[in-house]
Amino acid sequence: MSRTNGTATLEPIKTAPIAPASLRSTDQPRLFQRVREQMDRAAEAVGLAPEVRKILSSPACEVGVNFPVRMDDGRIEMFSGYRVQHNNVLGPFKGGIRYHPDVSLDEVRALAAWMTIKCALVDIPFGGGKGGVQVDPATLSRREVERMTRRFVYALGANIGPGYDVPAPDVGTDARTMAWIVDTYAATLPPQERYRALSVVTGKPVSAGGSVGREKATGQGVVDLIECWAQDQRCKVADLSYTVQGFGKVGSWAARILKDKGAKLLAAQDVTGAIRSYTAEGLDADALAEHVKTTGGVAGFPGAQAISREAFFEVQADVFVPAALENQVTGETARLLKVRLVAEGANGPTTSEGDIVLRERGIAVLPDVLCNAGGVIVSYFEWLQNRGGAAWSAAEVDQRLREILERAYARVKEMAADKSLGWRDAAYAVALRRIEQVYAERGIFP
Ligand code: NAD
Repeated sequence: MSRTNGTATLEPIKTAPIAPASLRSTDQPRLFQRVREQMDRAAEAVGLAPEVRKILSSPACEVGVNFPVRMDDGRIEMFSGYRVQHNNVLGPFKGGIRYHPDVSLDEVRALAAWMTIKCALVDIPFGGGKGGVQVDPATLSRREVERMTRRFVYALGANIGPGYDVPAPDVGTDARTMAWIVDTYAATLPPQERYRALSVVTGKPVSAGGSVGREKATGQGVVDLIECWAQDQRCKVADLSYTVQGFGKVGSWAARILKDKGAKLLAAQDVTGAIRSYTAEGLDADALAEHVKTTGGVAGFPGAQAISREAFFEVQADVFVPAALENQVTGETARLLKVRLVAEGANGPTTSEGDIVLRERGIAVLPDVLCNAGGVIVSYFEWLQNRGGAAWSAAEVDQRLREILERAYARVKEMAADKSLGWRDAAYAVALRRIEQVYAERGIFP
């Protein structure tokens, strides 16, 4: 497909042959090791102070808890949860809580370290943390999820707190989960201190202390950055086509906002299957979001063609937005992609091998630490509003978000050009320089 937009012509990208099987098995080293390698590469490129690299190579604190939960039928089940606090030199630990059966200490470590990099890159006063419980929330009733959440918060105790470690939603959790966390955390405080509880988490429902614009913030940020990229390509978002993997909080909002701007959603995939549009007009992202809400996934969306996972990766479009889990763009799937840009809504969607293939094939990447930073930026706005007793308007939230992202985009672009780096390495380099600056000024205690 070749697309003319009045200012530039986007030429199609040809599919490369599928990778030999031998490449696939070696493609997924442990996740935290991958983050370390990413940091090391960038540190090398900018000659980072060795002590900073050393400090960031392990998390500051790791909390693991096993806790009992009463199920609806009266049984007691044990659950395992984690909170990893990677670094807080720039401010309180900050990062989501994930409910997923594959949650592991290694994964949470990596996600926490990515938060350190992300907050430093966009220059907000937070450090990096992440938490999770090893559970498939779809197998529990709503009351069981609530009891599990409350018991997890109780087990974490003083390891979270408004000026110390501030969780938010991630995969499998949402605004309602955050409201339960506030309520439970408040109950652990003496009555005269309970007013502090509101800012123990962000991503709350607007009616319970949340910020307008937080629910869509990560997807909004993805779109803002695609717009920055499109501007550099001298084309308009309205002329782009896109595919989305994961139609949850991040993927569905990104898809809907792109649709509002006139872009065409050609295919979507999630845990229930993959679908594509029969026509170049694309799928209705709003109707698809409604379908996902009522049925639990994209499969069976009326008027769309069911396709295989492999066929999904082969759909020709301008932009691919991975917004599901880690390790989706592997050496193998990166060879299938026929897009110009991978805009990483998810954390860690691209493996090291995937990165190499994307680079070889000339496919641009907006790396996760930049591309999905909209969520934590508006979380910061929510935290500020809670602490200042303020309520910002939707327009103010959107505008401030965009300004921060545009500045971060410009910094990464400049670093990439300056040091001849890929965008992922450049993003890490900007973040590491920011952290290095603080360590240089503060020194190391004692
Ligand atoms: P979510 O739980 O709302 O949605 C997850 C989506 O991924 C669902 O559509 C699910 O069906 C899909 N999925 C799960 N396993 C899959 C698989 N194997 N293949 C294809 N699809 C699969 O989660 P979310 O909050 O939208 O988070 C998605 C990603 O974005 C995660 O990597 C998360 O860490 C990252 N992220 C989220 C936020 C946020 O504000 N929620 C912020 C930054 C980054």
